[in-house]
Amino acid sequence: MREEDFIRISKDNLKKLLKKENLFDEYLERAFDKVPREEFFDSRNRSNAYQNNAFDIGFGQTISQPTMIFIMLKRLEVRKSHKVLEIGTGSGYLTALLCELSHFVYSVERIQQLATLANQRLNKIGYTNFKIFVGDGSKGLYEYSPYDRIIVSAASSKIPQSLVEQLSEGGIMVLPVGGLEFQRLLVVKKIGNTTNVKEDVACRFVPLIGEEGFKDEMFHKS
Ligand code: SAM
Repeated sequence: MREEDFIRISKDNLKKLLKKENLFDEYLERAFDKVPREEFFDSRNRSNAYQNNAFDIGFGQTISQPTMIFIMLKRLEVRKSHKVLEIGTGSGYLTALLCELSHFVYSVERIQQLATLANQRLNKIGYTNFKIFVGDGSKGLYEYSPYDRIIVSAASSKIPQSLVEQLSEGGIMVLPVGGLEFQRLLVVKKIGNTTNVKEDVACRFVPLIGEEGFKDEMFHKS
């Protein structure tokens, strides 16, 4: 079978699974259809793009599992008028989905090489409503705040206070919080000066490394 045919069939199969799991609404289904996930894999791995797995993207990082991405997006309720902050660009696949769903995406990635590659891939597909920054996203991106929606694709032990401060009144943030091995997805809604925090599914993400996440020193042996 030709690789392109295999990719088309596996995209159809993944779409059926996401539908069965009730992870689509009309916006999410359209975004899934439009974004070519295979463009975020290197040429040797393209045929794995529509398996429902997280996948190694180098530098000890992963492209997130499709079902987890769509669980997060469903909770995030992104609309075309929204300004979104994404922490942990990784491959750029979720950034592309957010470009389809929102007005503008600000995305922060800690690893320069991943940010550069994601930027190239998003440009190649033709997205213009995003900007990627290299830095410590655990502190958010104060310059363009507040954000209507914030999505974090790396785990911290508590909700970073800077991210709460940079969320708009009425805004929603989705993030994994817990230990290094396992976490729980939290859905945070900002209402006036308070936040409503709902615990959602169990999950497993790479660590958010930074000032308001896990400290970098923890990952270096002395
Ligand atoms: N959603 C991404 C995708 O679709 O490819 C996967 C993101 S990956 C699970 C998590 C990313 O968070 C990694 O690329 C990692 O380098 C990044 N990261 C970790 N700590 C960070 C920080 N403090 N600021 C910004 N990015 C961070």
